[in-house]
Amino acid sequence: MDHSQIDELTKKCESLVVSERMYRNICDTSDRAFIYQDFVNNTIRTISNWNYYFDFDINDEQDMINIFNYIEAEYAIAFRELLNLEKTGIENQSAVVKFKDSATWIEIITTVIYDEDRNPTDKIIRFSDITKIKNANDELTYMAYYDILTGLYNRSYFVRLLSDFLRDAEKKNDVVAILYINIDDFRKINDAFGMTVGDEVVQQFGQFLGEFKSDHVIVSHFNADSYCIAIYDPYGHRSIEVITSAIYDRLYWPFYLSNHQELILAVSIGVAEYPEAAKSSLELINCAEIVMFKAKTMGSNSLHYFDAPILHEYLQNVAIENKLKEATFSQNFILYFQPQYSIEGKKLRGFETLIRWRDNDGKMISPMQFIPIAERNGTIVPIGTWVMEESIRTYSEWRKQYDCPLILSINISAIQYAQEDFIEKILGIIKKYNIDPNEIELEITESVLIDDFKEITEKLHTLRSLGIRISLDDFGTGYSSLSYLKGLPITTLKIDKSFIDTVLFDENTKVITESIIFMVKKLGFESIAEGVETEEQYTYLESIGCDGIQGYYLNHPMPAEEIEKRVLCHL
Ligand code: C2E
Ligand code: CA
Ligand code: CA
Repeated sequence: MDHSQIDELTKKCESLVVSERMYRNICDTSDRAFIYQDFVNNTIRTISNWNYYFDFDINDEQDMINIFNYIEAEYAIAFRELLNLEKTGIENQSAVVKFKDSATWIEIITTVIYDEDRNPTDKIIRFSDITKIKNANDELTYMAYYDILTGLYNRSYFVRLLSDFLRDAEKKNDVVAILYINIDDFRKINDAFGMTVGDEVVQQFGQFLGEFKSDHVIVSHFNADSYCIAIYDPYGHRSIEVITSAIYDRLYWPFYLSNHQELILAVSIGVAEYPEAAKSSLELINCAEIVMFKAKTMGSNSLHYFDAPILHEYLQNVAIENKLKEATFSQNFILYFQPQYSIEGKKLRGFETLIRWRDNDGKMISPMQFIPIAERNGTIVPIGTWVMEESIRTYSEWRKQYDCPLILSINISAIQYAQEDFIEKILGIIKKYNIDPNEIELEITESVLIDDFKEITEKLHTLRSLGIRISLDDFGTGYSSLSYLKGLPITTLKIDKSFIDTVLFDENTKVITESIIFMVKKLGFESIAEGVETEEQYTYLESIGCDGIQGYYLNHPMPAEEIEKRVLCHL
């Protein structure tokens, strides 16, 4: 061996030492454990962090049997396959197994190296503790399917399961029903008791609904205060009626919250069925939601079934809502005025302002249709401001020309009253056109008072103290309790058209109408009958002491120019 050969050998040895050290370092610092089996030299040994996983040693192949003592029975077969992998000719295989008596999850990977004749030369079995990763993964999987608050299925998983139901139903010609359930006035619960109580309510009610879960019933928490239940074959054992009446039975009793509060809940339920209402899961849920909104308009704890007119009405409302966003006041809105007369001598008392909307293709849209939509999406605020300004401006022109003290009535919706600057706004307009506040009357409905009786009453008192008149509209259609009227600064009470329609034929209506007028007199208000269409109605109202009338009998609502031509010029 010459020098150069010795040098080369030394270099090789050194590099072997380096790689051996590197290899040892890697193994020593690894948190894994390895079994290395050399089939050529018939040796077997453990490497790296073996003692972290096992407290026995492996000196020959037989010792490997001990590993089974660590693995839970249900994973034994998978591990046996890994142990005997060289007998199958496969190079790589892995399995995740659970250790007995602990929540440890181990990933085991076996790699077999074969020679050219496909005889195994080496086998490496690697053990890695993957508990942390597995748990995080399980949590992710959980979060992907379940709603953390209620433990019910979440929205997206519900949609998936519902699609499975629909696929089965299509094959078997079955029906699937969706119940869309929404807690009534949930915002009020949150506002009054805080979000934590709100969450607890959602949780407790959700857990109650969870009891309906079965092979045929999927229950989900859909969003904040909504739940969806899908029932496969809803006329069978678990029928819509069985579930909904169990829900309403439960709602009869209060929920007991951790802050010792007792709370009675009410819900609105919309029901839509496959295949009648819709064929796809999203459309079906949508239909049930639309019906739920319809149910909401019918009072608390209402239930409504899907039918085609509801969908039609909904689509129409969506169209109106879209048009409303594009409407320009001066172009699309027109004010009509309907004269009001005092009964005595049919003397002109004033006018009620009624808005009209002509959309861009010339079609008239009734305020009964668009006002509720404008109230829902908030556009009532600018619309209402426009009505106040435009009607008072028109009235101020009439005042200049005709010099007659009349009363201008303006319909104001609850949303407008709730605005902080409402009083400021109306006063500003009255001042701008230099009108006596006594000539302005604001019409409110009882629904205005329901939401925040105290605050609204205070506002009404302020308005009244400034001289503005307050008229209670549509009296008789709402709660109509005469007792609360006493505390309100009301000047006028408008008896709803529905009374006037039947008062001549119906004894009950007669009694009610007469007692309303009697009470109104006692309380010192003025009474105005709405929707008076005939002479007979007029004569009767006069005989029972009603103060004023408004209706087609004397005048339809009409635009400002016509009021001038047909009413004001006769003054
Ligand atoms: P409302 O305040 O009860 O108005 C009376 C409604 O009865 C008006 O309908 C009027 O045209 C109609 N009417 C008057 N006399 C008779 C009659 O003899 N027979 C019949 N069949 N109907 C009569 P309109 O103009 O369609 O208004 C409907 C509702 O829309 C109003 O009911 C009011 O609640 C609301 N509204 C109208 N304009 C405004 C507004 O500017 N702001 C707000 N917030 N609501 C408005
Ligand atoms: Ca009115
Ligand atoms: Ca009315």
